[in-house]
Order: sequence, then structure tokens, then C-alpha cells
Amino acid sequence: MTGLVDTALQAVGVSKPSAQAASASAVMNTYSRFPLTLVRGKGCWVWDDQGNRYLDAVAGIATDTLGHSDRVMRRSLHRQLRRIQHVSNLYRIPEQEELASWLVHNSCADSAFFCSSGAEANEAAIKLARKHGHHRRDIERPVILTAAASFHGRTLAAVTATGQPKYHKGFEPVVEGFDYFTYNDIDSFEAALQKHEADGPKVAAVLIEPLQGEGGVNPGDRTFFQTIRERCSERNILLILDEVQVGMGRSGRLWGYQQLGIEPDAFTLAKGLGGGHAIGALLVKAEADLFQPGDHASTFGGNPFACRAGLTVAREIERRGLLQHVEQRGAQLQQGLELLVERYPNLFEGSRGWGLLQGLVLRDNSDFTAPQLAAAAIDQRLLLVAAGPRVLRMVPPLVMTRREVQQLLERLDATFANAG
Ligand SMILES: *Cc1c(COP(=O)(O)O)cnc(C)c1O
Repeated sequence: MTGLVDTALQAVGVSKPSAQAASASAVMNTYSRFPLTLVRGKGCWVWDDQGNRYLDAVAGIATDTLGHSDRVMRRSLHRQLRRIQHVSNLYRIPEQEELASWLVHNSCADSAFFCSSGAEANEAAIKLARKHGHHRRDIERPVILTAAASFHGRTLAAVTATGQPKYHKGFEPVVEGFDYFTYNDIDSFEAALQKHEADGPKVAAVLIEPLQGEGGVNPGDRTFFQTIRERCSERNILLILDEVQVGMGRSGRLWGYQQLGIEPDAFTLAKGLGGGHAIGALLVKAEADLFQPGDHASTFGGNPFACRAGLTVAREIERRGLLQHVEQRGAQLQQGLELLVERYPNLFEGSRGWGLLQGLVLRDNSDFTAPQLAAAAIDQRLLLVAAGPRVLRMVPPLVMTRREVQQLLERLDATFANAG
């Protein structure tokens, strides 16, 4: 037990690493890492440098959509590397056109801008929102409303959009033009809208996750989102969804907004889109598409290699029927988690999530934090990631089999049996 807790505390950065260990790395010290070095992967499994095999319910944080070292992905990227890897957006890029067509054909959007990460996609969305505010609502200093406990990335505007003061601390002044409301709370949203719109138009956009991922695997409420949709439409405010974690099939639908019965004016993607390769995107409806040549750009954004990765994920989601698969495996996982909540009532107050994005919610008075339990799971050869201090998150590859979901549940059980 002592060993387990030590490992857990180390992983959450509670105990100080030895001076020797700290100085041995030339990598900047920005992460509290698990004491684990992963060197190889296949499907939903990864191996460490000692040859131990782990079941991966992290998947690069909701990123390795098709699992590790997928055969189709490998072949497709090899072929692309032999042809061409990177050019520049100075030229037309057929792979980019093709991926944009697929995304547009399969969503409510009409066009796509490509970049390389979630934060960068949200930066593009924030610029679009401000342009909308100036041009379509005649606002001098446009405000963007976002939710408390949200997560939108770590660049300066994206981190300001992130409604968690702990991420702002030490980096002030934050970017002007953001204000916050409580997620899934209609009164709080209406109050924020009134505060800024009482003396005429001030709000350019609402930026919000369909399910708050990092903030604790907290699914959006349909009535709440439908109210936001109505208010935005009434006032010509853009409704922008951050689908970086939920989009590309993780919820069992292609897009999180489909779970909520609304359509956004724009939405952002990254994480699962590239199946482990760096790509992000901003998708917009024609009415919201205000960008003109020169307004926005990215050197790496939408290069042939990244777009080939995205296209491969897209095609494999279709070819393997992954949406239905995620729905079924998600239901299996959810049922198993409910049983674990019943079995360990002192640890958990419940479970929540959509599809293969599930969280176990710890009790306030639980003896453990979520990062501690994620560290303890390593002893059971299971990889998990916390979503805040109180939620243990599962975001496995979308290809996880019935048997692997069963193994995931068994390893969770063993982890909690040892901890409790
Ligand atoms: C991870 C995440 C981001 C940030 O993505 P990066 O690629 O790390 O910049 C933004 N929004 C949401 C909802 C995320 O989950």
C-alpha cells in the first residue's frame, strides 16, 4: 500500500522528484509524469521499456482513435510519405480538399480551416468570433462567453476562454473580452448575457464544449444547449462548440452536438481527428464564414501528411462501423462502471459520460484523488487519466473490443479492491 501511494503521489507531483532525476532530463519541467516509459503499442495495448504490457484507456488523451500502430493507418501514411509530406498553403492541397469535403459532407458545416492542435483551432474560432462581432453586430470590443470548468487549450486566448482560474494564475494579464457562466445552468447563462447585452450588442459568440472533458466528463444538458441556441439565434451571436475531445465519434455520434439536438454555427476539432497525428480544424457554416485571404493562416495546418491521417480516421470510422461500435462498447462500459460504483460506495458517487468517454466520480470525502487512483491502476497494468481531482476518466481507442472492455472493468475492480 505504501508503494502504491508513493507512486500515486509522485505521479501527481506531490513528492519532490530527486534532484538527480530532475537534472537528468533536458526536457523542460512542464508535466507531472507517471513513472512510466512507453515504447511500443498495438491496438489498445502499450508496452513499457521493461516489457510490461498495459491496457490503454487513455489513448494519448482521446487521440489514438484507431488504436496504436493500426495496419490501415500505417499503410496509408507510408504511402503518403512516399508521395509527399508537406508543401505549403501557398498551393492547392488535394488531401486537404478531400478531408474538408468529408467533414463538410458529414456535418452541419460548409467549410473547414486546418491547423495542428485544439488550442490553435480555438484561436481561429476566437478570431472568427471577434470578426463576426465587429462586422455583423457592430461591436467595438466584442465579448465571448464561455463556461466555468471548461477547457479550451493553453495558448493565451484559449487559456483565457478556459473558465478555470488555476490555468490563468501567473500568466496575467489574460486576454480581454471573455466572461463566464456556469455550465448547464440556464439562469447563469441568461445573467451573463444580460450583463453584457443590456446596453446594446456586446457579445460576439458563445464558446462551449458539448461535454466538458478535462473539467470532469460532464455531459451537456439538452434543454440548456437548446436555450443557448435560441438566444444566440435571436441576437445573431455565434454559437461555437469545442468538439476537440468529443468530436470524431467518441460519443457514439460523429459530433457531440448531435447528442444535444442542436446545430452550432461553427465547431472546432483536434484530438481524435488525426488518430495520433497533429491536426486541428475549425468548421463553419456558410453564414458564419467571414475569413478572407490574409485573415488567418498556419504553416503546418492541413499539410498532406496530417490530412491523410485525418482522412484515414474518417474512412475507417465509416468502413468499420465505429459509431455503432462505440455506442455498444460505451453502453457495456457504462453498465460495468455502474456496478463498480455499487461495489465501491465509499470511493464513488457515480459515473457519467457518452460512448467511449466515461468518468467515475469520486466522493468528496474519498480517501483518494483521481490522479492517485490513475497511478494505482498502473500496478494493475491499466492506463487511466484523471479529469480534475475528482473524476477518473476513460477514453480508450474507439476500436476497443468487447473482451477488452471486460478486461478494463476487471482491472478497475482490482485497482479499487487494492485501494479500498
Ligand atoms: C485537449 C483539448 C483542447 C486543447 O487541445 P490541444 O491540442 O492540447 O491544444 C481544447 N479543447 C478541448 C475540449 C480539449 O479537450
